[in-house]
Amino acid sequence: MAGVPALLSPLAHFLPLEVPRLIRANPQPAIGFVSLGCPKATVDSEYILTQLRAEGYAISPTYADADLVIVNTCGFIDAAVAESLEAIGEALAENGQVVVTGCLGARAELVWQAHPKVSAVTGPQDFTAVMAAVHALAPAPHDPFLSLLPPQGVKLTPKHYAYLKISEGCNHRCTFCIIPSLRGDLVSRPIGTVLDEAHRLVAAGVRELLVIAQDTSAYGLDLRYRTDIWRGQPLRTDIETLARQLGELPAWVRLHYVYPYPQVDRLIPLMAEGHILPYLDMPLQHASPPILKAMRRPAAAERLLQRLAGWREICPELTLRSTFIVGFPGETEADFMTLLDFLREARLDRVGAFAYSPVAGAAANALPDPIPATLREERLARFMAVQAEISREKLAARVGQRLIVLVDEVEEGRVVARTAADAPEIDGKVIIPGEWELDPGDFIEVDITRSGPHDLLGVPVA
Ligand code: SF4
Repeated sequence: MAGVPALLSPLAHFLPLEVPRLIRANPQPAIGFVSLGCPKATVDSEYILTQLRAEGYAISPTYADADLVIVNTCGFIDAAVAESLEAIGEALAENGQVVVTGCLGARAELVWQAHPKVSAVTGPQDFTAVMAAVHALAPAPHDPFLSLLPPQGVKLTPKHYAYLKISEGCNHRCTFCIIPSLRGDLVSRPIGTVLDEAHRLVAAGVRELLVIAQDTSAYGLDLRYRTDIWRGQPLRTDIETLARQLGELPAWVRLHYVYPYPQVDRLIPLMAEGHILPYLDMPLQHASPPILKAMRRPAAAERLLQRLAGWREICPELTLRSTFIVGFPGETEADFMTLLDFLREARLDRVGAFAYSPVAGAAANALPDPIPATLREERLARFMAVQAEISREKLAARVGQRLIVLVDEVEEGRVVARTAADAPEIDGKVIIPGEWELDPGDFIEVDITRSGPHDLLGVPVA
């Protein structure tokens, strides 16, 4: 599921990050890599980097030292397309040999039009085509150093957390989204393959698994929830079984991009029992039935409020994150007020909101009554003001609590950590002032002493 606008926060890396260094006498082809877009694109980048390293390529931290540069693009909204085209242009100017992949690669004509000198354009997840282009431009070295590849593959995230992609594509057809046309219908990974990867990641030091897909709750639907045998036990390919199995690992397990299907109800007891984190990232997009209908999204806000209440009864610790789009075509003031009422009643913990922005190729572009840009922005500001107050109150309620946090960064004069209620990159932090003998990936207990608009302040329990 892509309440996708939430995923467009810039996530651009020029590599390498944490890539083990090859020590060798002979030069070897070096590949530069620019990774743009959402966590799902990050996982694709990790696959490609892992394959490059498996074949003995070096990863170059600079354009100048690279034999060629791969740009993994995002093509979700026009701003992301512009950013991707700019990154391709920069790589061409600085290096000259550029292979384009990712979501924008599905619209190859756009890339060729803007940059006729790129060497190859491949679509999202077409790893074979990416590697074929790399082999043609910079033949692979024959190298005995392949064992330097870490068993968990090459990761773009810090060592202590990792994205675990369980499926690709989406069977929904939300009118504002072009992901299905870029990435196709739902294709779930076999449950044993996902669990093997999760075990490898945890064995390599990962302390938090972030489960992602375009629509996490649909996992297994395309496989008709078939039963596979993994390590001698029969496992049904569905999100509940997967969550239960992941919950056996000594790591936090956090679910992202959950579409509000009925089966989500069955995940809440797993959270209450401590198998997985009591955290649900569920992009809802709107609350007014006519707008949800125009978006082609489930339109039962009333029932959803009841479900939220029921979930909180079962699991009082539950953190709910969501994203919304304001100013969708046809949104009246009454629709918008319905959304604000929902927000006040639902009291979600973390909320991202975006003013609607047309995406080339999206069905919503043909809808009547577009909202003027100034009104879209005005509604966004009103929406955020309501949520800011709710968030402030929710965070203030944490002061005085004793919480377990996961250390993300140890800096001079402070430690940056997160509670179970906060996902990396998108939610808040717990700042622990002072010098402490801690490392990223450590779990510690802290007493929360103060709250701000987004973050908390804490002191470690002695
Ligand atoms: S079409 Fe699929 S990926 Fe796009 S917003 Fe809807 S659920 Fe998410």
